[in-house]
Amino acid sequence: LIRQRQLTILAVSFGAAFLLLLLTVALLVSVPKPAPAWIPAAICTVIAALAGFKIRDTLISTTQSLERGNLQREELAIELQQQRSDIDTFAEGLEIAIFICDEKGEVLYSNRKVSEMFNFPEPQGKTVLGVTLSYDLQNLVTACANSHTKQISELSFSYPQERVGYCEAWPQPEGRQVFLSIQDITELRRLERVRRDFVANVSHELRTPLATIRAMAETMSEDKAQLKEFAERYLPRIVSEVDRLTLISEDLLSLTTAESNPVHKQVCDIAEVFQNVVRQLEQKAQGKGLSLTYAGPKHITLEANISQITQVAFNLLDNAINYTNYGAVAVNVEEQESQVQIVVQDTGIGIASEHLPRIFERFYRVDKGRSRATGGTGLGLSIVKHIVESHGGQISVESSLNQGSKFVVTLPKGNIQSQSSS
Ligand code: ADP
Repeated sequence: LIRQRQLTILAVSFGAAFLLLLLTVALLVSVPKPAPAWIPAAICTVIAALAGFKIRDTLISTTQSLERGNLQREELAIELQQQRSDIDTFAEGLEIAIFICDEKGEVLYSNRKVSEMFNFPEPQGKTVLGVTLSYDLQNLVTACANSHTKQISELSFSYPQERVGYCEAWPQPEGRQVFLSIQDITELRRLERVRRDFVANVSHELRTPLATIRAMAETMSEDKAQLKEFAERYLPRIVSEVDRLTLISEDLLSLTTAESNPVHKQVCDIAEVFQNVVRQLEQKAQGKGLSLTYAGPKHITLEANISQITQVAFNLLDNAINYTNYGAVAVNVEEQESQVQIVVQDTGIGIASEHLPRIFERFYRVDKGRSRATGGTGLGLSIVKHIVESHGGQISVESSLNQGSKFVVTLPKGNIQSQSSS
């Protein structure tokens, strides 16, 4: 625009100078002879000089505006480059897989998450099907390209591992490309399943004692003649079923508390906690003819919730006694550089390897009958795991059938500089 305006001024200046020259020549022709020869020469020189100045000014300002334009263009190019690299960094950092494909599903661009999710280092140039091994996803892209409308679907992927993805494909507004995003919702769906199972398990666990109580109460109310006899027979069972319901509700409450963050920590003498629980369970162990021993320092302090750690100790030791018929249960507490390690070992019935990965799940029991007979709710180990993990620790188990089990808990010391004393 600037250049056009300058050129117009230049043309008008030339035109005006030319007209002036014509006017002068006409004037000279009409002036009576002889006219002095320098007059036309002088007029021509003045006109030429004026035109020259105008041309020079116009050229200078044209060059300046051109330079300004170039500078602005360069600045815009740098800004554009910066924006592109910002968008690239943004796309690379996203935890959502992003593709840009052509209408046949050939990948033109993909972010880091795509390579990570499908274990495919260089997806560009390949098809969506080739990268993800999912016909459904490929169809989603082509359906989007053909209909030019947004397509949404929840799809399962089996390579390199089982996953569930929330997939959206939408068309480029003025073009033939398709944008595709995949959000990994595997964990979300797993948690939903766990929650559904949990609710089903809780209602099942509550229904059994409630049904028993109801049946016994009904029998007593129906046959008044035998009320005394029934009462003697059924009342202790009713009390024990109510105790069981109380136990389940207490365990559910502990589980909820263990899951709710943050943990209220205080200075906790973990060695003392385990020694107290050993003392508390000594009689129970003796009753079964088992030896129950504690080995380790008398005091080790760390940052923890005392009542929750007491529950960890109780659940592990109570289980060890419940599932051991002969031999011993031993607790070993050891202070390490930045953590405390607790080992609870027994010589009991052990756990078959196929059950090991599941024993920390809520309500999972290897032998339901045995667990019930010992007053178990199937929640003990999941409470332990939640408490340990909410304290930043870990729990693991090793076990051999009919030889015994070994539970190892590690807990970080926190900010406390603990001093152990033996
Ligand atoms: P429960 O209330 O049934 O004891 P837990 O969650 O404490 O529930 O334990 C889950 C299951 O793990 C138990 O039912 C039992 O089958 C198994 N288990 C736990 N501790 C031991 C152990 N020390 N030895 C053998 N099996 C065990």
